[in-house]
Amino acid sequence: MTPQASFQEETMIEEIRRERFSHVPERISGLVDLSFNLWWSWNPAAAMLFKQLNTQEWKECDRNPVKALQDIPVGYLERAAKNREYLRRYDIVMHRFRQYMMTTRSSWFSEQYPERRPLTIAYFSSEFGLHHSLPFYAGGLGFLAGDHLKECSDLGVPMVGLGFIYAGGYLHQHIEADGWQKNVEDVFDWEGAPITRVLDDSGSHMVVQVPLIDPALYVRVWKVQVGRIPLYLLDTNVELNMPEYRDTSRRLYLGDIEGRLRQEIALGIGGRKVLNTLGITYSAVHLNEGHSAFALLERMRERVERGMTPEDAMYQVRGTSVFTTHTPVPAGHDVFPLDLIETYFDSYYPSLGLDWEAFTALGRHPDYPDSGFDMTALGFRLSRFHNGVSKKHAEVARRMWQNIWPELPEEQSPIDAITNGVHLPTWLNNKMDLLYSQYIGSSWPSWQDEHDNPDIWSMIDEIPDGELWDIHLWLKMKLFARIRERKRRKWAEYRNEPANVVAEGLMLDTSALTFGFARRICDYKRADLIFHDLDRLERLVTNRWMPVQFVFAGKAHPADRRGKEILQRIYQLAEDPRFAGRIAFLEDYGEQLARYLVQGVDVWLNNPLPLMEASGTSGMKVALNGVLNLSILDGWWLEGYNGRNGWAFEGHPPSPDRDAADANALYEIIEKEVVPLYYARALNGIPHKWVQMMKESIKSIAPRFSTRRMVKEYVTKYYPSVCLYAGEPTDLGEVCPVERLPG
Ligand SMILES: *Cc1c(COP(=O)(O)O)cnc(C)c1O
Repeated sequence: MTPQASFQEETMIEEIRRERFSHVPERISGLVDLSFNLWWSWNPAAAMLFKQLNTQEWKECDRNPVKALQDIPVGYLERAAKNREYLRRYDIVMHRFRQYMMTTRSSWFSEQYPERRPLTIAYFSSEFGLHHSLPFYAGGLGFLAGDHLKECSDLGVPMVGLGFIYAGGYLHQHIEADGWQKNVEDVFDWEGAPITRVLDDSGSHMVVQVPLIDPALYVRVWKVQVGRIPLYLLDTNVELNMPEYRDTSRRLYLGDIEGRLRQEIALGIGGRKVLNTLGITYSAVHLNEGHSAFALLERMRERVERGMTPEDAMYQVRGTSVFTTHTPVPAGHDVFPLDLIETYFDSYYPSLGLDWEAFTALGRHPDYPDSGFDMTALGFRLSRFHNGVSKKHAEVARRMWQNIWPELPEEQSPIDAITNGVHLPTWLNNKMDLLYSQYIGSSWPSWQDEHDNPDIWSMIDEIPDGELWDIHLWLKMKLFARIRERKRRKWAEYRNEPANVVAEGLMLDTSALTFGFARRICDYKRADLIFHDLDRLERLVTNRWMPVQFVFAGKAHPADRRGKEILQRIYQLAEDPRFAGRIAFLEDYGEQLARYLVQGVDVWLNNPLPLMEASGTSGMKVALNGVLNLSILDGWWLEGYNGRNGWAFEGHPPSPDRDAADANALYEIIEKEVVPLYYARALNGIPHKWVQMMKESIKSIAPRFSTRRMVKEYVTKYYPSVCLYAGEPTDLGEVCPVERLPG
């Protein structure tokens, strides 16, 4: 961050404090700073400061501190400001927060690379999943981006993020009485969100014109502070924009292809311009999927403008760019028709020093040259460092994209694997964290700082079975209480049918073995696989001695009819009395519900068609919390499963009977292994063998599938090489003498 930017940050918060939070007593006014930095969300002691003001209000404000501070009666704030115990905690948290934020504080990164002036990495992503008050995500890609920023903050990796504010969110899922998903648009609460306006030199809200687009498209710039990492978010709802442009950032992934192209130009090229306007110097970019790949063109253009040859410019851009591809599913790769590209880039591509043929060749799919302008192909061609998100996915991606590098044999395709991870402090439940600290912390006092070290985790074995089991049961009860709370609100608001209330989880039973399945509902994820044989399923769930429950959640893409049909079928079966209220479909899966689900079920179920799931991350979140995985061998589970830490089955080869065969494999494991293990109880009620497996799962998965391991891998494999290519930053940020570049 430039000194000017940090000065601006302080004045912004000052202004907000004066205008909107003057009712917060001076003694605890640091709560305002805290509420505008998401650091609070992965530090339970900080969250507790807000909750303690008034527990009921905290719940009513959806656990969003900006809203909670805004709405709370002043009396509660004054009470806290006089309470010794509260102030003691407040002072400790604020001290830790200020220490953390001081950039001079030693961090893993500065210890690793003491000789380096920090070379900031600009991280572009079309979605960021950070907190439910910022609903700018559709699913896994967004949470990965959010967790990446949080981890870079914790490790001290210099980074700035760039993305969009989507005022209409992704979709707010409402399920009708007949089980059909209705898409209600989210209404973004601007006042209640932890965002600040970014100001220009004259003190007005910064607005930047996006190059290329005629008539002009403007974006406003906002900022979210993610620990030490600033995330700049663009929004097109600006008066200056003509009405049809204002909705460019209204929703994620616009269905209309021209709107989508404008979005991606705004993100890549506009985003690049925003960072320049802010005076942020950075030396490399990391693109989270192809949506932002136009940023690479803009970097090339700037170099050509400064007098480099197109070849040198391309060489340098490639050497300072990291590109991560996230899915083998075709819908995840944007391809734009060439005539549309021509309309927008007609006067742009000559400024790259390229002719039309050379320009379009950058976005040409190697196997389908006539398909249009492919953003993934562009990402690969203009970056030197590329990776898939699990070993298997990298293998699949190498096969898919091998012809980008026709001179290399497939196994030498330069697509490496960096397996995804999750941000441990975000996803690990606080009670579990305290339990681990008690046992791991006795030998490794600062274990949280080195939680990617597998040795530390052997101490998990020291935890008495009963203690781990009790916390697990408590989390399960919390999940079911949370489900009822949500249901109560909907019941009061919509007065829906009693059967709907049952279908949405009213009758869930804490003592029954509970499976969770929550992810996007689409064909290949096969949410309904377990319903393949209804009689067999009925026998499972209604077994008197060993009952089983299934809890589902997830959204179908608004345009995905098939997904909505799958959802409706599950919902209607959940209403059917033959399943005795032991199957539930929970509405509106999002960050908050995910948090409860990944902590509160017994087993996490995952059975997509093989090779379609690049990695998957929810299974990692559950493992941290002692929940066991039952998954088809695909994505991350191929690396995570060790024969003792959960269950796995092989998907069958493609055939008309594949679903039947896979479903059968699933039933077999559930009936013969999962159910008996769960119900094998000692006289004290504890399933010792099950708890054994929980421990094995925690130990073997937590250190390896965390973003701590993942970000360190990005840093050690890519970011320093990138820095080497970039050389010392100058005021232009990334001019590097070409002659210094290695081979
Ligand atoms: C973690 C998470 C995801 C991604 O989970 P996958 O296993 O990759 O499907 C999606 N949505 C939410 C709300 C999440 O928390």
